[in-house]
Amino acid sequence: MPLLEVENIDVFYGDVQAIFGLSLTIEEGQTLAVIGANGAGKSTLLKSIAGLCSPATGEIRFNGERINDVPPHRRVPLGIALTPEGRRIFPSLTLEENLLVGAHSKRSGHWNLATLYDTFPLLADRKNRLGTNASGGEQQAAAIARALMSNPRILLLDEVSLGLAPVVVEQIYSALPAIVEQGTTVLVVEQDVNQAMKVSDRVQCLLDGRTVLEGKPSELSRERIASAFFGI
Ligand code: ATP
Repeated sequence: MPLLEVENIDVFYGDVQAIFGLSLTIEEGQTLAVIGANGAGKSTLLKSIAGLCSPATGEIRFNGERINDVPPHRRVPLGIALTPEGRRIFPSLTLEENLLVGAHSKRSGHWNLATLYDTFPLLADRKNRLGTNASGGEQQAAAIARALMSNPRILLLDEVSLGLAPVVVEQIYSALPAIVEQGTTVLVVEQDVNQAMKVSDRVQCLLDGRTVLEGKPSELSRERIASAFFGI
């Protein structure tokens, strides 16, 4: 049984439809990258899985159970954690306090302050820095670590590389193997296609709220990806 199944969902913001009959499946332990240009519906998809948007039709199943009506705070103890677009670090808390917020609905598991500082050394050095004073890379690392503090079965990562220098993106993504090694399933949303191809077992490309291409990175040529991405 797949860990996560999204079946034929339609999602609206008022009268605006952002997602049209979208489906996806992730097996436990897999890393799936969802790629697509601005406005493709990537963040809306993640928000629907986390419970922050409600699909008007279709079904979302986690571990075989329908979760459409489960509120976001109850999805965390089930094992679903979101690192939102823009990081959403609490500015008046230190980075360590931000991490502790993530432990509010903690499941048992590998991740705690010590193991996270091991995996994200840049956080260990800056743990007493206020969120507002942290760099983009430090905030991104803290946002991922905060989600991991709940010991999720699936980690939803929204636009990790947005606004970060390439060297910092590499630094952040270098933590991913340690996360996958724990058996964590990862759904990463990326505009940086190269990065997405590097880290994922499968790629799904969205355009205007619909899936236009999917497959293993090794099976997809750059030309096919570019046409799907830009809708050419
Ligand atoms: P981006 O990288 O720009 O975040 P995305 O692929 O994540 O793009 P979404 O943010 O999911 O795309 O947006 C999908 C569509 O829904 C877009 O047309 C967007 O304008 C619209 N949309 C997103 N959020 C809202 C909102 N709060 N109210 C109305 N429309 C919205």
